[in-house]
Order: sequence, then C-alpha cells, then structure tokens
Amino acid sequence: MSAPSIVWFRDDLRVADNPALHEAAQRGEPVVCLYILDDASSGLRPLGGAARWWLHHSLESLGSSLRDIGLELTLRRGAAADVIDSVVADAGAGAVFWNRRYGEAERTVDAGIKAALRAAGVEARSSQASLMFEPWTVLTGQGAPYRVFTPFYRSCLAQPEPRHPLPVDDDVTAFTGVAGDDLADWNLLPTTPDWAGGLREAWTPGEKTALERLRAFLADELSSYVAEQDLPAQDATSGLSPYLRWGEISPFQVWHETRSFVASLDRRTSEGARAADGASAFLRQLVWREFSYHLLFHWPQITHSNMRPAFDDFPWAEPTDVVMEAWQMGRTGIPLVDAGMRELWQTGIMHNRVRMVVASFLVKNLRIDWREGERWFWDTLVDADPAANAVNWQWVAGSGVDAAPYFRVFNPELQASKFDPHREYIRRFVPDIDAETYPPPLVDLKESRKAALDAYASISKDRALGEPGGSGD
Ligand SMILES: Cc1cc2nc3c(=O)[nH]c(=O)nc-3n(C[C@H](O)[C@H](O)[C@H](O)COP(=O)(O)OP(=O)(O)OC[C@H]3O[C@@H](n4cnc5c(N)ncnc54)[C@H](O)[C@@H]3O)c2cc1C
Repeated sequence: MSAPSIVWFRDDLRVADNPALHEAAQRGEPVVCLYILDDASSGLRPLGGAARWWLHHSLESLGSSLRDIGLELTLRRGAAADVIDSVVADAGAGAVFWNRRYGEAERTVDAGIKAALRAAGVEARSSQASLMFEPWTVLTGQGAPYRVFTPFYRSCLAQPEPRHPLPVDDDVTAFTGVAGDDLADWNLLPTTPDWAGGLREAWTPGEKTALERLRAFLADELSSYVAEQDLPAQDATSGLSPYLRWGEISPFQVWHETRSFVASLDRRTSEGARAADGASAFLRQLVWREFSYHLLFHWPQITHSNMRPAFDDFPWAEPTDVVMEAWQMGRTGIPLVDAGMRELWQTGIMHNRVRMVVASFLVKNLRIDWREGERWFWDTLVDADPAANAVNWQWVAGSGVDAAPYFRVFNPELQASKFDPHREYIRRFVPDIDAETYPPPLVDLKESRKAALDAYASISKDRALGEPGGSGD
C-alpha cells in the first residue's frame, strides 16, 4: 500500500470546507485524521473550563462527521511535535496536512514541525481555512499592518471575494491501525461539581448545528439584525461565535451562505431591504473577527500587554477576592452587570452589548486591570477566543489600538434603560432583583466614574504604540 496522509485537526473541527482534509483526499492515499490535545508544547495557553467542555462535544461530533464519510478520528495527547513524529512512524505516513493558526506560540510549534517533517522527507503542507483575509495579505499602502478597523474593513472589501467553500470528499479511504486515546480519558468534562448543566441546555456543539443555526439566523433574524443586535433580551444575533472559534463552520461558509441568501431577496420589499442591510452589518462583524486575528498576528503581545504603553503606569486597584467574586458571580448590585455575569456563568456566553458593559464596569468603576477580566472570560466563555477576547478587552479598557477612549465610561443604568427597556433580560438572569437578599451596589457609579477619570488623568498619554512584531508564515 502507498504511504498514507495525516490530517492534523486543530481549530477546524469540521469536514465541510476543510482545505487540509480536501488536499489529503485529493492525494488519493489512505488518511489518518488526528487531533492532538497539546498540553505540553511551551507557550500554548491552557484551555478554560467552558472551552474544554465544548471541545469534548465538538470532538465527538467531528468523529461522527468523519465516520459518515468512512474516516476515523484518532486522538492523542502530548507535545504536538512528539505526537506527529510518532504517528508518522506508526502509520508510515508520507504527508501531513493542516490548516494554519495565527497565534505566536502556535506558529512556532507549527513551523518547527514543518521543518522537521521536511527534513525527514515527509511532505508537510498548511492551508488557509480559518480566516478569509490572512494577516500578511491586508496591509496599508506603506506595507504596514492596520491599526484601525474601518480602513482594514475597506481594504478587505477591496480584495478579491473570499473563495467558495470546498466540497466534502466522500471517496476517501481511512488508514486504520494507529492507536489513539479514549476521549473520556482526557477528562475534559467537569465532574465534581458538574457545573455544565446550563451549557448542555444552551448548546449543541458540532458542524451540523452550526450550519442549521446559520441558516435559521439568515431566514428568521437577518432582517431585524440592525435594529435588534444590541438588545440582549432578543435572540437577534447569530450565536455562531463558539462554532467559529472551534472551526465547526468556516468564515467562508458564513460569507457565501449570507451572500447567496441576500441574492435571493427581493430588495424592493422593505423586509428584503432590511435583510440586505442586516447582511452587510453581520458580515462587517465577521470582519471584526478577522481584524482581531490581524492584530494578534502583528502584535502577539496583545494577549497580555497593553497596546498603549501609557497604561503600564495606570494605578489599578487591588483585585480583592471580595470584589472579584461579586463581579464574577453577578452580585455587584448593579442589575445589568449582574445579569450579564450570571448569563455567562450559567450558559457560557454573554451578549456583546452586555460584555462591553460588564468589562467597562470592571476596568473603570472598579478600576481593575483588564487582564483579570480577560482571564475570567477565558475560563468561562464557550467562545473564548485567543484574539477576540484580548482585543475586545483592550478595546473597552482604552489600552488597545482603535480602542474606545478610557474616558468613555458606560453607565450600566443608562445602558439598561436603552437596551433592556422592559428589564426582560435583567429579570431573566436576576430574578431576585427585588428580594431583600439582592446586594446593594458595590460602588457608587458616579463617584467610581470620577475616581477612574482621575486615575486616567494621572498617566502620561504620549508614549507611542508598541511596534508590530509578527512575521509571515
Ligand atoms: C470584553 C469582550 C470580550 C469578548 N470576547 C470574545 C471572545 O472571546 N470570543 C469571541 O468570539 N468574541 C468575543 N467578543 C466579541 C463579541 O461579543 C462576540 O463575538 C459576540 O457576542 C458573539 O455573538 P454572535 O455570534 O451572536 O455575534 P454576531 O453578531 O452574530 O456576529 C457574527 C460573528 O462575528 C464575530 N464578531 C462579532 N463581534 C465581534 C467582535 N467585537 N470582535 C470579534 N469578532 C466579533 C463573531 O465571530 C460572531 O460570531 C468579546 C467582546 C467583548 C466586549
């Protein structure tokens, strides 16, 4: 038999529109489908609890999609370089295919493996799958990375249209006989206590649900997206972020499904015109995801360092256990903040508008370093994303590129009256709002706002932005 190929799955847990799988299938040799739980390579950030829960179910779902086309998913744990080495040897593989990642540590791991495979005479090929616009392809006229979203977005729109999704290959042969782990032995699910009840109720991970969700969103919600995307009580956004995070759906699929849906609309009707506007607004959000990765690639330090070094001198308050627990558990006595934090704890998600409010409250009213909030989101969000999480926290904190200015302090009460006018969302997650046990406000909103602005006034604003540090693939 000829040498089999290995497809190494990572943040692309799908069979549809999967270039690495497609390339391996086109090669015509038997295929080993491999997922590595890499908790050993240096620099990789360990997954949070909610992400581990999602990953478990996503791998089950991927296993089933692969079985439908006659393939098998092999699971291995360990440093990716060692595992690839041993699976290549076990299978006698002649080629390894994967889809690219954009974080610095991930790129270092991948580049090392690519070099080692090639040196050993094994073909190693990477493809573009998770971003429509790879970070080194969208640059300013001076060849520099973008720091501001709107020109980045315009520049993406001026590029050739993203490619169409690839077909699923169902004439591939599985290479069997490579030993793998049992998913249950990875202990990705919580046991004592089992805190995942709310996640199970809210989510069904997997590519089948992702596509169904996209199609239902386009048919039912697109025409009200512009008017309602900021209303947390409405189910008005796509809910696709965890599916995109894990690559159960690709941005190419989202882009083209949306474009063809729009092409089928009669724009002379008001419903059709609203849906077309909704599509533009929705695809613009999808490009925010691309922009987050653009920033992560060019400024890898964005995950842990202030993009504006002036913030290195910011007089942050001590994150005491009492204050952090009140915020994390939704017991600050500020109803919209508490509703958001309880939504997150129960379901692993939080509406975008409310994310901005709870983040502003932490960073400004409580004057706590954005990295504390980013860490909590990393642990509790099912869509916890290496790029979007840090970029958005820095955006709210004012420490990022193209960020909201620090002096823009969201007032959670005004935000609630504007975006949750009937307190529907608040009552859903804070049913005890009128009970005696509901806590009084942790801080006075007016006084804490003033203290935040005084603290901001104390730092020098003229230090330059960090220089870009990413290098091409
Ligand atoms: C403090 C903070 C932290 C955040 N952390 C994350 C995170 O870890 N992971 C994450 O995916 N999003 C994060 N976001 C962005 C945003 O809140 C979510 O992407 C959005 O709520 C997901 O809901 P949806 O899929 O229904 O969005 P839709 O409105 O349907 O948007 C479609 C897609 O566009 C992308 N998108 C939308 N808004 C943004 C944005 N501001 N930045 C980057 N991509 C965006 C998402 O992939 C989303 O699924 C964060 C926002 C804030 C303010």
